[in-house]
Amino acid sequence: MPGLFDIHIDEIPQAGLELDSPLPEGWLASHLGPAYRPSGKAESLQAHVRREGDNVLVTGTLKASVEFECSRCADSLSRELELAVKALFIPEDAAHIHLENLDLSSDGLEGMYEYTSRTISIEPPLAEVVVFALEDYPLCSQECAGLCPTCGRNLNTEKCDCGATGKDSPFAALAQLKNKLARK
Ligand SMILES: [Zn+2]
Ligand SMILES: [Zn+2]
Repeated sequence: MPGLFDIHIDEIPQAGLELDSPLPEGWLASHLGPAYRPSGKAESLQAHVRREGDNVLVTGTLKASVEFECSRCADSLSRELELAVKALFIPEDAAHIHLENLDLSSDGLEGMYEYTSRTISIEPPLAEVVVFALEDYPLCSQECAGLCPTCGRNLNTEKCDCGATGKDSPFAALAQLKNKLARK
């Protein structure tokens, strides 16, 4: 997607470049795993792009929010994301990197990326922070008791007499699936 994510290195001013922009339509959705969907609320990127010689440092914050179902109890949840982005772009043929002038001391680099043309895309580090922030099987809480494998009740809020079969039984997943389908 051109525009927001593409930056021509020679057009970065001495003082750096300030980005403050909504994310392109559909971008977030295309980087979410199957467990998530965008909440439809505002998604934005604020970033500072600074050039030091041939190196380009991007620091900023990506904000978005996602919706998902707890993978144990199928409860609907949403989560606000405020993700720090910090990435360094270096020329592919750089014999060595001059890092001493860059302020990398505070919390370290999130990632380093090689570039081959004068136009760099800052999308890869953005995609990485999104993927990294979202676990594959999200839970409403680490203590979530899940659904009863027998009667399908949500054991976080209800009790049942079905007995001993724990949430790790092979039937638990089946009950969850059944419950999920019943909702549709
Ligand atoms: Zn849950
Ligand atoms: Zn039960």
